[in-house]
Amino acid sequence: MTTPDVIVIGGGLHGCSTALHLARRGIQVLVIEKDHVGRHASGVNAGGVRRLGRHPAEIPLSVASMELWHAIRDLVDDDCGFESHGQVKVAETEAELETLRRRVEEVRTLGFTHEELIGQDELRDLVPATSPHCVGAIVCRHDGAALPFRTTLAFKRKAESLGARFIEGIRVTGLRRAAGHWHVETTDGAHEAPRIVNTAGAWAHQVAAQLGEPVPLEVIAPMLMISAPMAPFLKPVLGATGRPLSFKQFINGTVLIGGGHRGRPDPETNWTDLDFAALAISARTVWDLFPVMRGAQIVRAWAGIEARMPDDIPVIGPSRTSENVWHAFGFSAHGFQLGPVVGAIIAELIATDRTNLPIAPFDIARFDRPTSL
Ligand SMILES: Cc1cc2nc3c(=O)[nH]c(=O)nc-3n(C[C@H](O)[C@H](O)[C@H](O)COP(=O)(O)OP(=O)(O)OC[C@H]3O[C@@H](n4cnc5c(N)ncnc54)[C@H](O)[C@@H]3O)c2cc1C
Repeated sequence: MTTPDVIVIGGGLHGCSTALHLARRGIQVLVIEKDHVGRHASGVNAGGVRRLGRHPAEIPLSVASMELWHAIRDLVDDDCGFESHGQVKVAETEAELETLRRRVEEVRTLGFTHEELIGQDELRDLVPATSPHCVGAIVCRHDGAALPFRTTLAFKRKAESLGARFIEGIRVTGLRRAAGHWHVETTDGAHEAPRIVNTAGAWAHQVAAQLGEPVPLEVIAPMLMISAPMAPFLKPVLGATGRPLSFKQFINGTVLIGGGHRGRPDPETNWTDLDFAALAISARTVWDLFPVMRGAQIVRAWAGIEARMPDDIPVIGPSRTSENVWHAFGFSAHGFQLGPVVGAIIAELIATDRTNLPIAPFDIARFDRPTSL
């Protein structure tokens, strides 16, 4: 096997997107994935493709990523199940509507117009099934949703077609630098390359720690549940303001319910325990907001293993302790939408040492001072 220019550790959407964008630039890349591509958060998430409600620091990246989503077939030769029926965040009280009004103003002050405040009548036109007590909403009309596993595999396939290589079922266990190269030890032999990218998701802090760069990453297990098919009643993706909710109906009528309640992860065994009391709270929220859901039958629930940072925004950019290493992890339960653009940013940094997108807020150095190697 020839020595690649870059080894990417982790085959989630961010690793696959990085591989694709590197391969588009003619850079030889090898992705090493300990399980299989899309096994973790990238393959099992809610598929929400959302600019709505982003942390101010993420908005420019999210807006740029949305442009890639709207041309996703050109990028990966697959539409990834992407549909753009908008995302809507409802207010249940006048106080919540005031919170949404202030949010829209804040986003406009930053120079963005994708979040729009709508009143009760327009909400009723847009989503007739919402409970009459909802008083308004923010809508992001060109947001939407996609199929996560299909998306991640589409990025992998397109990267492979451009020359990227993937090895699945082996784990990176050690990193060592010698003679200008990184020696990447794995559970099945060693590989080497001049450059490394850490897209190891909920295990990325273990990689960073090997570089003398500890980060306060929390491993979390957001949960989802899905109903039996129901008559069509919902096109956009719905969220709430005063309580956690992400809610959407697929074309086959099944309804996906999520939005923040968590189970208990065991990242060493890949196991997650569901918290049924918390799932019942999600069910209650849906019951309150969508009377039509009172007859729904839940058929399945699951959780994914995800990385959360204390400030709920990711780490994106170069290592501050080690030469020729870049990080992209810690997406804090909203990294699916960012996948297409973050891979482009990392590839740009590797190829040109710069990017026009504002990534300073995602610097790994914002946490504890790193210890040098
Ligand atoms: C239930 C749920 C719902 C979500 N809903 C949404 C949503 O609607 N919209 C949205 O934008 N985001 C959502 N997210 C968040 C989104 O899924 C993640 O932020 C995103 O997928 C993270 O991608 P990643 O590539 O960083 O991580 P991952 O997909 O976890 O990939 C990291 C990979 O690295 C591999 N790896 C780790 N360590 C090693 C090692 N030492 N050697 C080799 N391989 C290694 C892992 O096996 C894993 O496959 C949700 C997440 C969950 C769990």
